[in-house]
Amino acid sequence: MFVGHYAPALALKAIRKSPSLAAGFLAVQLIDIGFFSLSYFGIEKWRPNPVLPGFNPVDLYFMPYTHSFIGATAWAAAAGVATALLTPKGRKQTGGLIIGVLVLSHWFLDLIVHRHDLAIFSDAEQKLGYGLWDQPLLVMPLELGLLLAGFSVYLAVTRARGAVGGIAPWIVLTALFVVQGINWFAPHATDPTTFSAMGLAAYFSMAGLAFWLDRTRT
Ligand SMILES: [Zn+2]
Repeated sequence: MFVGHYAPALALKAIRKSPSLAAGFLAVQLIDIGFFSLSYFGIEKWRPNPVLPGFNPVDLYFMPYTHSFIGATAWAAAAGVATALLTPKGRKQTGGLIIGVLVLSHWFLDLIVHRHDLAIFSDAEQKLGYGLWDQPLLVMPLELGLLLAGFSVYLAVTRARGAVGGIAPWIVLTALFVVQGINWFAPHATDPTTFSAMGLAAYFSMAGLAFWLDRTRT
C-alpha cells in the first residue's frame, strides 16, 4: 500500500491538538522509511520477482525489524514517546498517542495488500498478508478510496487561509495520484540503490507537500 497509508494522517487532523500534517505523513510511512533505509544496507532483504502477478513484483522476504507486528509496534512506541518528549506541554499525550497510532496503522494497512511476508514476531513462523497486490482491480479502488475518504475528512475539518489554501489540497491530491500511478505502472527498480532512493524520495517529498498544505489551511 502507498497513498492509502495517508488516509489516517489526514483524518486524524479532526482531533484537536493533533500533530502537524507533515509529522503525520512521516509517521504513517515510518516503518517503510526504516525498511528502505535498512534494505539499502542489506539488513532487511528483498529481490525482484517479475513472475508475480499484479502490482509490486518484489519478494519482501526478510524484514523482521520493520514489518513484523512486534517490530512495527516497537517503532510506534518509540515514535510516540519521542513525539511526547518533543511536543510542548498540554499537547504531549495527544501528540504522542496519535503519532504512535499512525505508525502502527501502516502495518494493518500493509496486511491487506502484502503477500505473506509480514511476520508477527520472527521470520521463522508462518507470515501474514491477504495479497491484494495480486488483484489490481480490487487494490486500486481500495487504495484511492481510502485516500479520498481521509482527504474528505481533512477538507471538512480545515479551512483555507486565503486563495492558496483553496487550491493547495487539490495540488497535493494530484501529486499523490501521480506518485501512486508511478508506483503502479512504471517499471520497478531492480537495484537496491535506486529502489531505496525512490522510496525515500517519495516519502520525504510527500511530507514536504503536507508541510506546505498545513501552512495554507487552519
Ligand atoms: Zn510497509
